[in-house]
Amino acid sequence: MPHGQDVEDDTSEMTSEYECLQCGRIVKAETNPGECEECGGDFQNRAKSIE
Ligand SMILES: [Zn+2]
Repeated sequence: MPHGQDVEDDTSEMTSEYECLQCGRIVKAETNPGECEECGGDFQNRAKSIE
């Protein structure tokens, strides 16, 4: 094990899924992508919307 700390085997804690409000494109990023590459729409953090 390269790391001695208690880590999970993925980066889900660092990245969130953002969904384009216009075309539904899903992007995984640490921070809001800002503008959709496909349509220029705004992204919504999916994780935070599920509460
Ligand atoms: Zn889009």
